[in-house]
Amino acid sequence: MGIQVTDLSLLRDQLVIRRQKLEAAATKVQTANLVQLLEEVDKALERVDGGSYGICDHCHDAVEAERLLSDPLARFCLDCLKPAEQRALEQDLELAARIQGGLLPKQGFAAAGWKTSYHYQPAGLVSGDYCDLLTDGKHLYFMVGDVSGKGVAASMLMANLHAMFRVLVPTGLPLEQLVERANRVFSGSTLPTQYATLIVGRADEYGNVEICNGGHVYPLHLTNGGVNVIESTGLPVGLFHDQKFSTTTFKVAPNDALVIYTDGVSEAENAEGTQYPDGYLRELLQACHSLGSQEIIERCIKEVLSIKAGAHRLDDQTILALQFAPEGHLTSN
Ligand SMILES: [Zn+2]
Repeated sequence: MGIQVTDLSLLRDQLVIRRQKLEAAATKVQTANLVQLLEEVDKALERVDGGSYGICDHCHDAVEAERLLSDPLARFCLDCLKPAEQRALEQDLELAARIQGGLLPKQGFAAAGWKTSYHYQPAGLVSGDYCDLLTDGKHLYFMVGDVSGKGVAASMLMANLHAMFRVLVPTGLPLEQLVERANRVFSGSTLPTQYATLIVGRADEYGNVEICNGGHVYPLHLTNGGVNVIESTGLPVGLFHDQKFSTTTFKVAPNDALVIYTDGVSEAENAEGTQYPDGYLRELLQACHSLGSQEIIERCIKEVLSIKAGAHRLDDQTILALQFAPEGHLTSN
């Protein structure tokens, strides 16, 4: 996919800002590297204005839009990079993947009478999915999100969400205000074409659950009478600066579980490319009440893998299970 017109004008602004910074730096020290970078920025600006920006110097195909967004000076498509440059890019990606892995919550995280388990699988080396668990000592906070786009640019936004909620949760703000503040910061720091669907929830030791859903796939509530779909939702975060959010509250019984996932799981495709409705997960989960959170995750993953056998994985997949297991109602997990 080539670069979009909206992204192009933003990239032009970015290039102009970089040019100013380079010039300011060059008045203090003149290094060969500064001079070379200035030249490259000027050439990129010429290509933007001449309409040839984002076209590979070598094969004249489009340079990957995602790479241009992270490196506006990129002049070659991935296929035309020299082997050494390709290796350097791979090493950068591996580093990004390690950093992202370090942002995930601890497996088996437990708080406020809740036990948790999750599965996090990037489509490539890095993921645009967001998953985190936190506690303030009284509540379990859980976050699952899906940033628009893929690859490094999406993974950086995922890291952005991660850092933001790590700062916001300890403030103890009401949930909807927490998401509203996150939305303001997020929309101010992303490109207008980028947004994230997001679920932010808070659960306590009495089984009270509050969920704010910003355009994300509905969470599922596993009760001993079947699976309830928590059907409330609002707009994704990052679309508008002054968006309002609302929350839904409900109560769960001991051994009940909540299952939250990204559309890479619900829209699992098989090798023939048939899209499965997310109903398949609900059906599977009907039989999962009272199972431990880890067992629930294992069953879901087994099902997704069997559907996707032989298919190329296209989307990041995240699935989080939270089980209410207060003292005196301990389960196998
Ligand atoms: Zn090329």
